[in-house]
Amino acid sequence: MVPISHIVQYLEAWAPAAYQESYDNAGLITGDMHWPVTGALLSLDATEEVVDEAIERGCNLVIAHHPIVFKGLKKINTRSYVGRAIVKAIKHDIALYAIHTNLDNVTNGVNFHIARRLGLQNIRILAPKKQLLQKLVTFVPQENTDSVLAALHQAGAGQIGNYNNCSFRVSGTGAFTPNEAANPHIGAANRREEVTEERIEVLFPAFLSGKVIQALRQAHPYEEVAYYLTNLENENQEVGSGAVGELTEPLAEMEFLQRLKNAMQTGCIRYTALRDKPVHRVAVCGGTGSFLTGEAIRAGADLFVTADVKYHEFFDAEGRIVIADIGHYESEVFTKELIYTYLSEKFPNIALHLSDVVTNPIKYF
Ligand SMILES: [Zn+2]
Repeated sequence: MVPISHIVQYLEAWAPAAYQESYDNAGLITGDMHWPVTGALLSLDATEEVVDEAIERGCNLVIAHHPIVFKGLKKINTRSYVGRAIVKAIKHDIALYAIHTNLDNVTNGVNFHIARRLGLQNIRILAPKKQLLQKLVTFVPQENTDSVLAALHQAGAGQIGNYNNCSFRVSGTGAFTPNEAANPHIGAANRREEVTEERIEVLFPAFLSGKVIQALRQAHPYEEVAYYLTNLENENQEVGSGAVGELTEPLAEMEFLQRLKNAMQTGCIRYTALRDKPVHRVAVCGGTGSFLTGEAIRAGADLFVTADVKYHEFFDAEGRIVIADIGHYESEVFTKELIYTYLSEKFPNIALHLSDVVTNPIKYF
């Protein structure tokens, strides 16, 4: 049987836990990574009703977008909806796992999924994050270059967009004098040595640096491995908030709003003044997204689809964009289908279920 850890590793190869926002609490909330999975229930929220559904369906894993425990908990009792979900999950050996802002922040995550539902093309991250990349420079004797590079790639270095195994190398001369205590791969104590070496450069996501350095040390023939690790200011185009893309054919504003209503199955859209301009470029952010209004305007979007917009935040449209608030639940409820598709390809033998519980706490009249 497949342990929960295998599912988590596969999910986090797509949406690494390191990419969750600092305020988030994504990850395993209750349970044990070693438990064999009896079935997984996919939901937007892991409320008590969803835990009940998991029990009924024989699933010991609930994969939710929102972490049911978000802030620190000082009491775990049944007086709050959070406590009731946790108490029941623990009592019935149910693991609750959340894949939240890490799934918002990656290519092909929550926001790409919304963009695709709306028929957008050429989808990219709206606000790529900076300082998530590192560069490694190291020096390797020529005959070992290929094996060291292979080890670095194996550890995840050199994956850039749709390109794998990227590196740069240049030849030069390395010089060193080992002392008596050294155990040199090349040369002898107290004798200056010159060796033809290659300088190798590779990029990788900063959260992999431990793994990459370990791979370097294992594959490199030298006792003392010379390397530089640099934090890059560059944006990582594959990680960040929101998404933006274009419609194949521009649509009149009301026509687009109708498409939005149908595609996201929302009963109500709150929007700012129309601009009497066709909609071509559209920005999206599932859940609370007002913090991206400026980015959406700078990206040249005609319309910004998001949720949880407050009264004063609607004013920020200023006639430069149309803000459309479709509701938090409505913007993200299809995330469970996205996770379902991803998992079912890899784990065809695990029973995966989409939750039937409507967890939306908001009613419309
Ligand atoms: Zn949300």
